Amino acid sequence: MKSLEERIRKDGVVKAGNVLKVDSFLNHQMDVELFNEMGKEFKRLFADCPINKILTIEASGIGIACIVAQHFHVPVVFAKKTQSINIDGEVYSTKIESFTHKRVYDVIVSKKYISPEDHVLIIDDFLANGCAVRGLIEMIQSAGATVEGVGIAIEKGQQSGGRMLREDGIRVESLAIIDSMDDTTGEIIFREQ
Ligand code: 5GP
Repeated sequence: MKSLEERIRKDGVVKAGNVLKVDSFLNHQMDVELFNEMGKEFKRLFADCPINKILTIEASGIGIACIVAQHFHVPVVFAKKTQSINIDGEVYSTKIESFTHKRVYDVIVSKKYISPEDHVLIIDDFLANGCAVRGLIEMIQSAGATVEGVGIAIEKGQQSGGRMLREDGIRVESLAIIDSMDDTTGEIIFREQ
């Protein structure tokens, strides 16, 4: 999506450790008009899928997922990061290692909100090593529901998450794919799509 690539080029800041900061339009201040364009594009890309639910993970996926959901006219469920893992069987749970915070979170979704008849689109802001998306897929599969695909705003193609998910047959659509970025020059190279 050209407008997203242009915005990343204009306002993205490349940090050491392969981290892209996009706080001015995506991760802190949010450009809702841009989110709306992203929603329209995901709707076009997944038009052939019988999606009835969107799943994301707190916190930074929630804003995008809510705007995307308006284009699909479906509810959003967000996986919650929790300290105390609930063992009473009312939740699906998994462990997700945060790429940016370098720690492992227990993540839960109530069994009330994903069921076997659901056809789920996963939405997230970034795809790096794929740990977050894999955790969400695991919980959808535990529920016996169907993963229709994964919609990502920014995929860092120099990390292997996206490639491995596609190799496993998961449909992954990323609106901008970065092939490389340099924290000394700030240069970002996007993959032609
Ligand atoms: P993964 O689990 O694929 O390794 O990382 C994806 C998660 O880590 C996303 O939910 C996102 O919040 C965060 N993340 C990964 N890479 C970046 C990055 O370069 N910049 C920002 N802002 N978040 C990132």
